[in-house]
Amino acid sequence: LSRDPGEPEFHQAVHEVLESLGPVLAARPGLAAAKMVERVIEPERQIMFRVPWQDDNGEIHVNRGFRVEFNGALGPYKGGLRFHPTVNLGIVKFLGFEQIFKNALTGLGIGGGKGGSDFDPHGRSDEEVMRFCQSFMTELYRHVGEHTDVPAGDIGVGGREVGYLFGQYRRVTNRWEAGMLTGKGALWGGSACRTEATGYGNVMFTSEMLRRRGEDLDGQQITVSGSGNVAIYTIEKAQQLGANVITVSDSSGYVVDEKGIDLDLLKQVKEIDRGRVSDYADKRGVSARFVPGGRVWDVPADIALPSATQNELDAEAARILVRNGVKAVSEGANMPTTPEAAHIFQDANVAFGPGKAANAGGVAVSALEMRQNASRAAWSFSRVEEELASIMRNIHETCYETAERYGAPGNYVVGANIAGFERVADAMLAQGLI
Ligand code: NDP
Repeated sequence: LSRDPGEPEFHQAVHEVLESLGPVLAARPGLAAAKMVERVIEPERQIMFRVPWQDDNGEIHVNRGFRVEFNGALGPYKGGLRFHPTVNLGIVKFLGFEQIFKNALTGLGIGGGKGGSDFDPHGRSDEEVMRFCQSFMTELYRHVGEHTDVPAGDIGVGGREVGYLFGQYRRVTNRWEAGMLTGKGALWGGSACRTEATGYGNVMFTSEMLRRRGEDLDGQQITVSGSGNVAIYTIEKAQQLGANVITVSDSSGYVVDEKGIDLDLLKQVKEIDRGRVSDYADKRGVSARFVPGGRVWDVPADIALPSATQNELDAEAARILVRNGVKAVSEGANMPTTPEAAHIFQDANVAFGPGKAANAGGVAVSALEMRQNASRAAWSFSRVEEELASIMRNIHETCYETAERYGAPGNYVVGANIAGFERVADAMLAQGLI
């Protein structure tokens, strides 16, 4: 890692995995002899490129594009694109590294990769976003493809951006290659339930953790952070299962809604008006209060589902949650919990679902989208949702059983890291010195 200075998030993600691997490396000395750890932390390929584009006033901007193709042992590289001003190589590497093990846990034959840009879509017109996406894909197209590398959305990349990216790929390659990108619209090769999959999947995983403890979601009070794709569909599924979700947030603060989040209003504000959570509070009236600059973790809850961004839940927030009696914390976002905070939850016997297991539903349905594209089929919403539920149950069982087998019962972090690592390492061993 000394070869990668200035990449703290990547170092953090690697340390989190390595901390778990001791028992499997001891039990299987062949993995250490094959230098499997050294190989797995080195990306197969890293691509960085210039993305020039013009805004509506004719001013020229130059952003940086990234695609890290981290590990292809289990299938084509697969992972989202993030458009956010904080994106740099270290962030993309941390996300790509996590993605390897997450994708392995789904059992669906997908390798790990991630990409993005430091472009900020906030406040940009549709035309500006389109021009940016076209410029981005004009370089990226030569590195991706249905059998090579299959991007999708992430922070700042939703249905609109995926549409512009797919359109440009088709234009420059003259190919209808639906399986080169997932998260597409229903009319042109997208899968039912992909938009919902990450949030739904995290709630399904949380339900499984609770079931092991003889509980369910009915009547539980839940705090959710973020108000984007993952947060919205986390709330939808949690409400369907009888829980009361009382918070949402964005980078300006959070809203606590004593009556429970009004999901139709939230979707209107976020998905149609592209507004802020403060707009939700203004429109909702007396039951909702906007707290500028605050964090949802101050609000007492039975269950906390961080669904915004990395390191949003630190040790101080974890202590507050534990003091307020939290029973389960499950990561909808990637690495939202700092390592110290994760240890606090585990020491307090809080059920803790790590992102690489708990938020794998999105990429799992992306893999089902690729499967539908390959056979030119379109499955119904209920079929995809049933498959998603079965995949999330399997991921939960795999993590639970692996943790038990390696002497860490109930520790889903250890279970997810070892199970994901073993699958990738075994495929790499079988494929020779790669
Ligand atoms: P969106 O862009 O739809 O929403 C992101 C939300 O998080 C927004 O409310 C945003 O607020 C907030 N947010 C982003 N950055 C920050 C920040 N630095 N500080 C505070 N709030 C912030 O993204 P998604 O919902 O798709 O992604 C959320 C998380 O889930 C990410 O960690 C992503 O990697 C992870 N994830 C997403 C998957 C998917 O299928 N979409 C799959 C698996 C994981 P604001 O508008 O103010 O920036």
